[in-house]
Amino acid sequence: MPFGNTHNSLKMNYSAEQEYPDLSQHNNYMAKVLTPELYASLRDKETPSGFTLDDVIQTGIDNPGHPFIMTVGCVAGDEETYEVFQDLMDPVIEERHGGYKPSDIHKTDLNFENLQVNRPGPHPDTRSTSTDQGGDDLDPNYVLSSRVRTGRSIRGFCLPPHCSRGERRAIENLSIESLDVLDGELKGKYYALKNMTEEEQQQLIDDHFLFDKPVSPLLLASGMARDWPDGRGIWHNDNKSFLVWVNEEDHLRVISMEKGGNMREVFTRFCTGLTKIESLFKERGHEFMWNEHLGYVLTCPSNLGTGLRAGVHVKLPNLSKSDKFGEILTRLRLQKRGTGGVDTAAVGGVFDISNADRLGFSEVELVQMVVDGVNLLVDMEKSLEAGDTIDDMIPEQK
Ligand code: ADP
Ligand code: MG
Repeated sequence: MPFGNTHNSLKMNYSAEQEYPDLSQHNNYMAKVLTPELYASLRDKETPSGFTLDDVIQTGIDNPGHPFIMTVGCVAGDEETYEVFQDLMDPVIEERHGGYKPSDIHKTDLNFENLQVNRPGPHPDTRSTSTDQGGDDLDPNYVLSSRVRTGRSIRGFCLPPHCSRGERRAIENLSIESLDVLDGELKGKYYALKNMTEEEQQQLIDDHFLFDKPVSPLLLASGMARDWPDGRGIWHNDNKSFLVWVNEEDHLRVISMEKGGNMREVFTRFCTGLTKIESLFKERGHEFMWNEHLGYVLTCPSNLGTGLRAGVHVKLPNLSKSDKFGEILTRLRLQKRGTGGVDTAAVGGVFDISNADRLGFSEVELVQMVVDGVNLLVDMEKSLEAGDTIDDMIPEQK
């Protein structure tokens, strides 16, 4: 699927009605919000870098829905997209982020010390002990790996759906320069995609360290895969516990991960590394896109705010067969994916379980939600395994 011809200015020779997309089969937030009137009022606007309404919505036109997740259906091409097209973006954000209003203020908390032990547990053997620190006690017999990621955008550059080759390469160079300074546990190296062999790339993907090749229609239809693999790459420390993706869906994706269930350790490294990266960019005169209302500004409106997805790969073969599984996840404000990434289905009862929210909650609150929620899911899995019912364990809506 090539990038569409949305920049065609002859389209203004046609009426808004003649240009209006067919959204009759669609199930995404953009399609829910867009009306012919809204389209007519926004279609001749553009951001200072030239991003238009048709660019914003193309991905949602070409991708009617998603098997697991209600997709957003629109992207930003630059920081100003959220202002210029706010009549569309605000209601999409409100729908996607549980009623988050245009007047709401977002909060940031990157202090891992604020994670708490929150685990009464229905069974004596699952109660927390005095040595637990909060987030360090996910059962590794069920939780195979823990991960926290976020995105960051560098102010003054267009976002991946709209950036030029020159901008993309400048972001890559700036990232290498800044990340090269990291030391200690975080010391690492940059690997440009174009210098990797096919096998090296595939190995990193199979080991869950690297973003997928641009096969996802979501990536393709938004224009983010243009010029692939130019300007793309991965930076990581020696043991691959701290990684930065460059120029995939966001300018930067910062990831901390490791095997097992110590989410506290993963989050600690995440907060420390991210804070260092932010100051390294600042020292070079570059801020991250941020404002009080939207928090960190990213390509996909679903990632605004914290941009944070804290998740585990967890074995839930029994619980996932329960017809209450979906409802339980919703009540815990969690979402599920397959373990091969956002577009994959779960295999063998192993799921990627992560926070569903990004905006309106702080980083600490989201990680806490995942830790508490996953602990409960694992307790439920153990009950089902033992042949018990989980009826008295169903959580209230968070
Ligand atoms: P993201 O939200 O970071 O874009 P994706 O669903 O696109 O996540 O997955 C990107 C890659 O990260 C995939 O290879 C996926 O398997 C891996 N991944 C995601 N969560 C975990 C986890 N908890 N443990 C190990 N790998 C993970
Ligand atoms: Mg992804």
